[in-house]
Amino acid sequence: MTQLTIRTRLHSGETPASFCSRLAAMNGRLEARHFCADLGFNFQDVVDGRDAALSRLAYLADIDVSSLRDSAILKTADGYQVDGQRMTRNLMIRNRLRFCPECLAEDMRRQDEHPLARAWGRRKWLISFIRTCNVHNVSLVECSVQQEPSMIHDFAAMVQVDRWEIPEAAKRSVVREPSAFEHYLLDRINGHVGAAPFLDALPFYVAARFTELLGAVVTRGLKAPIRSFSGDDWWQAGAAGFSITSCGEDGIRSWLSEKQAAFGGKTGDVGGRALYGRLYETLAHDSDDPAYDPVRKLIREHAIDTLPLGPGDDLFGPITDRRWHSVQSASKEFGVHPKRLRKLLIEADVLSKDTATLANARIMLDAEEIAEFVAEVKDTVSAKEAQKTRKCTTGSLGYPGRPGLPCSSCQGGSRTWSPVPVSSRRYQRVS
Ligand SMILES: [Zn+2]
Repeated sequence: MTQLTIRTRLHSGETPASFCSRLAAMNGRLEARHFCADLGFNFQDVVDGRDAALSRLAYLADIDVSSLRDSAILKTADGYQVDGQRMTRNLMIRNRLRFCPECLAEDMRRQDEHPLARAWGRRKWLISFIRTCNVHNVSLVECSVQQEPSMIHDFAAMVQVDRWEIPEAAKRSVVREPSAFEHYLLDRINGHVGAAPFLDALPFYVAARFTELLGAVVTRGLKAPIRSFSGDDWWQAGAAGFSITSCGEDGIRSWLSEKQAAFGGKTGDVGGRALYGRLYETLAHDSDDPAYDPVRKLIREHAIDTLPLGPGDDLFGPITDRRWHSVQSASKEFGVHPKRLRKLLIEADVLSKDTATLANARIMLDAEEIAEFVAEVKDTVSAKEAQKTRKCTTGSLGYPGRPGLPCSSCQGGSRTWSPVPVSSRRYQRVS
């Protein structure tokens, strides 16, 4: 097979699909898939980064195949890879033209290229999380028309189809610098990591999506209307979220605690949706992708570490261990009326009287300690009942733990006593 006589150069950061599409246009074929078929290979294989197709394309265009490989978006068994960074189909924007108006305008002014091959597609424009041009400091825009399946990825053809809408779309671009979040993502797809170790350890799309979802709750609250978010809304969410997720596990736990504290004064069941809003809903219900498990695990462990959750509760799955009880949950588990339990705890100086205004569900108790405490006091009765059971008078009940000694403090009869002297400890005043 002979090489093409009409050729162009591959730009740094250009996708192989864009390069192939421009070559096709220069050679008189407005649809790249027809151009490739004529030359004995498949355009979709170029789009998917298949090596045989890239090698054929490189030979025909007389360029180094490694440069095509470097800028490819490689289709894998579980999604895509952009320079080794994992992405998913639904988080890339490929079915409509997305571009920086300034970049495109500069392309079109170039006189050294065939007019149909001047505009070239940047790989970074396909990544939904990158919303700002880091060359021109303006927001990216999209044309509204969704391309026919046969046209998707065919950049030169898409520019032709959308040529009347491009000026209108360009007007929607706003001046702004890329956020720290976008710089981080751009660095990652260019092979630079290390700035945010927690995020670095997550797949690219998980780090990005988690950051934006968390940021959506930061910027718009627990009920953030993410289904109607504009690109600008997501841009703000990404910037806000990154200020937290870039601080790693400590920063994220601190934010989760803030959300929990904000919920603390309200009544109702503690649940992921009530605590963390859209962040929880999306991670729990909109995706079962196990790649998000590390962030689900972090949120779940933080909740178990800091909230009265245990068997019977669910947060990204049933909870089997308990570290904390509330008065409410302890009352339920141990079968002690919550009023009585609070009274017992205050009398034993486990709780201060300052907790009187807190709801039963909001008073935290160490799960092991409260289990021991309840085991000791559960069967105690009032002094009056104890007298009846033990057939003695209040004054002769004796000093707690020291039967037989006078006890002036129990004369009021308001304290509770074990009905049977099982052990000296169980004679101690507990209410
Ligand atoms: Zn630009």
